[in-house]
Amino acid sequence: MDRGHLASLLEAEEQRFRETHPRSLALHERASRSLLGGVPMNWMVRWAGRIPVFVKQASGAHFTDVDGHDYVDLCLGDTGAMAGHAPEATVAAIGRQAPAGLTTMLPAEDAIWVGEEMTRRFGLPLWQFTLTATDANRFAIRLARQITGRPRVLVYDWCYHGTVDETLVTIDSAGRTVPRPGAIGPPVDPALTTVVVEWNDVPGLEAALAGGDVACVLAEPVMTNIGIVHPEPGYHDALRELTRRTGTLLLIDETHTLCAGPGGYTRAAGLDPDLLVIGKAIAGGIPIGAYGMSRRVADRVNAATSIDEADVGGIGGTLAGNPLSLAAARATLQDVLTDEAFAWTIPLAERWERGVAEVIAARQLPWHVTRLGCRAEYAFLPELPRTGAQAAAAEDWELSRYLHLFALNRGVLLTPFHNMALISPATTAADVDRHTDVFRAAVEALTAV
Ligand code: PMP
Repeated sequence: MDRGHLASLLEAEEQRFRETHPRSLALHERASRSLLGGVPMNWMVRWAGRIPVFVKQASGAHFTDVDGHDYVDLCLGDTGAMAGHAPEATVAAIGRQAPAGLTTMLPAEDAIWVGEEMTRRFGLPLWQFTLTATDANRFAIRLARQITGRPRVLVYDWCYHGTVDETLVTIDSAGRTVPRPGAIGPPVDPALTTVVVEWNDVPGLEAALAGGDVACVLAEPVMTNIGIVHPEPGYHDALRELTRRTGTLLLIDETHTLCAGPGGYTRAAGLDPDLLVIGKAIAGGIPIGAYGMSRRVADRVNAATSIDEADVGGIGGTLAGNPLSLAAARATLQDVLTDEAFAWTIPLAERWERGVAEVIAARQLPWHVTRLGCRAEYAFLPELPRTGAQAAAAEDWELSRYLHLFALNRGVLLTPFHNMALISPATTAADVDRHTDVFRAAVEALTAV
């Protein structure tokens, strides 16, 4: 690839972005006086335009910005809005619940409905609710430590599970656990808390579990946070067998892999985890997280928990289990993220994948596109990666920025930090084709030298 050509294309897109987004630029300027970095949360500085567009209104699979542009949203709040923006049933439930109380520290009946639905979808019998998937992971890890009496957690290289201290790690060239690049203020040396292995490396996993000091393996069942890295055939069987044999708990994080179907990858592939975490999309965008556990785990948790100190034990959150989150979750699961919704979104993701694959093939680019359910992503290497490290080595920030900004300037939003598209029940074939056309044009400009 001609990097000079890429740099000049990127510069032209930056200029176009500045010229066509004067209101977002002015709001960012004003925001810089009261918000650190001019944004409400620090990662928002990483959008392709260097500043984020400010949203005016989001509905279904589209949103408009303050400059009046309409976008097909393929980011969907990086899964938080996988149900589509402001889904009607969820908004109606919020409208019913809001005047009836927002937070009470007491349960309402919706909590039971959602717990039962979680069991129906994922198989695990007992559930707890949090406000985020991060919290659900943190609490599930705590419980795993408590009931096994083991100090460490095993995660995969280049995983992401939220802002969970134990998981912000990678391995150095000597195979040691070290903070991942960019990890802010690690509380302790992460080698004390965490073992990291490569995805799809069965002997590496076996060796790491052999010491008997790992409380749980925390895994996305398909890696989705360094591009999509699928498990090889037999990997999940080996993972389950090795965790069982070594008395290690298996904690599956379905926060993103819910895209695989109504019961996530766990149901689609018949997995049998001890603990399962989910969050983001299940309340249609209202904050919620959940973790479920097997009856065996629940019995051990009950035996190891002091109810007298339950409020200060390290698992909690004053707003956790609030009636608004649960009313929104009930409506979203009942009426929006249904079996029929997945029957619509998965074929559309296949269409997105086909469109991108055709462009890649036509230009003979050494890239590939892959998919999990209603999520698809392209990456700058010719073959599917086996490990997070292989996927990470193929990342190209400048190239991604160009493709993202080209798309943004023409009304298509991709997920930042990924070349990813997520399809909602409100997304249409025309939305998908708009991306394909824009992607083709971006690639043609890139290869026209
Ligand atoms: N688990 C996975 C697999 C995730 O991708 C993320 C966020 N991207 C989280 C957990 C954390 O979600 P949240 O930031 O909403 O807590």
